[in-house]
Amino acid sequence: MFDLIIRNANLPDGREGIDIGIIGDRIAAVTRKIEASAQEEIDATGRLVSPPFVDPHFHMDATLSLGLPRMNRSGTLIEGIALWGELRPTLTREALVERALRYCDLAVSQGLLYIRSHVDVTDPRLVTVEALLEVREKVAAYLDLQLVAFPQDGYYRSPGAVDALNRALDMGVDIVGGIPHFERTMSDGAASVEALCRIAAERGLPVDMHCDETDDPMSRHIETLAAQTIRFGLQGRVAGSHLTSMHSMDNYYVSKLIPLMAEARINVIPNPLINIMLQGRHDTYPKRRGLTRVRELMEAGLNVAFGHDCVMDPWYSMGSADMLEVGHMAIHVAQMAGIEDKKKIFDALTANSARTMGLAGYGIEKDCNADLVILQARDPLEALRLKPNRLAVIRRGKVIARTPARVSELRIDGRPASVDGTEYAPSFGC
Ligand SMILES: [Zn+2]
Repeated sequence: MFDLIIRNANLPDGREGIDIGIIGDRIAAVTRKIEASAQEEIDATGRLVSPPFVDPHFHMDATLSLGLPRMNRSGTLIEGIALWGELRPTLTREALVERALRYCDLAVSQGLLYIRSHVDVTDPRLVTVEALLEVREKVAAYLDLQLVAFPQDGYYRSPGAVDALNRALDMGVDIVGGIPHFERTMSDGAASVEALCRIAAERGLPVDMHCDETDDPMSRHIETLAAQTIRFGLQGRVAGSHLTSMHSMDNYYVSKLIPLMAEARINVIPNPLINIMLQGRHDTYPKRRGLTRVRELMEAGLNVAFGHDCVMDPWYSMGSADMLEVGHMAIHVAQMAGIEDKKKIFDALTANSARTMGLAGYGIEKDCNADLVILQARDPLEALRLKPNRLAVIRRGKVIARTPARVSELRIDGRPASVDGTEYAPSFGC
């Protein structure tokens, strides 16, 4: 009666020895023992079976462009933006599509099946938008791609951006973006937040802004974003990406700000890899970490979801489409090493991101989409520690990627013949 059964799975919520029965593209049963058989069965052998990873903040128009037209010598955010400005006029639709499709291949192999990508609307040709709309269509069968109209050089600061952003939305881009801290003045930034929230309200679209991606303790755009969210009735549909300035803000002010953000139900998207790399660059010692207040925001009930942001582009020369690498960095930088902390970090790579992106049918419950990843790890804690292989990636009931388990052969007299790094953890459950 089932098309596929995954047996003996550990789930992220701690349930163990679970069978997952799939009919067509849906999960039809999640229970301890399915007596029926199926056309295909996969024995998960007590490994973690998770819903796919979700990246709520990425730049697919820039990814895999590392070295074009040159390398970022200083490695700073500002040189990255300048470098992207040099590359932008030379971009072609074909090259953009090709790079994005290659990235999606890598993402699928890592069990990353949902991505929200910002798309730069600065170049009035909007070749980036045309390309990523084509990619959204091309990958739809195996990966959900959401697009944000992103005025990289400023909504007001860059001539033509106001018109270009609206044209991008007319062409079918899903979400209204912005970058208030990059406008000429704090008041221009605030005006851009108001204008962009108004557009979102009028068009019935969500908002996702690069917001306060600085070390400036006086940057106040998240306050404005939260207030305009409430004013325009956009609660729960607005994301503040980065929010790194919150790291440096005065504590009394933050005690007032976080409740306002909670009232506006702002989705918070820190990008730990990029934030730790690019922030604090004006500091000598001590150097600030430049990650927003992850623990405090979570404790205040805000939905916090981590983004990858960049992979091999003008801003970041590293990355491998592995959201566990993002979570691994978050554990360190946010100092969230407790067992409950790590579970929250895993949620911030999966369920919280799905909520940020408004995904329907996400999760391992009856009637959810049959989208699953089997990892070479026992539980979320081990997954975060090991960044293990994705043994199988399942999309709508079909296996779309497989990777063999990583086991090393050992040739040392008197020692075991093989090493499996997943067998080293103490057993205290998850
Ligand atoms: Zn970004």
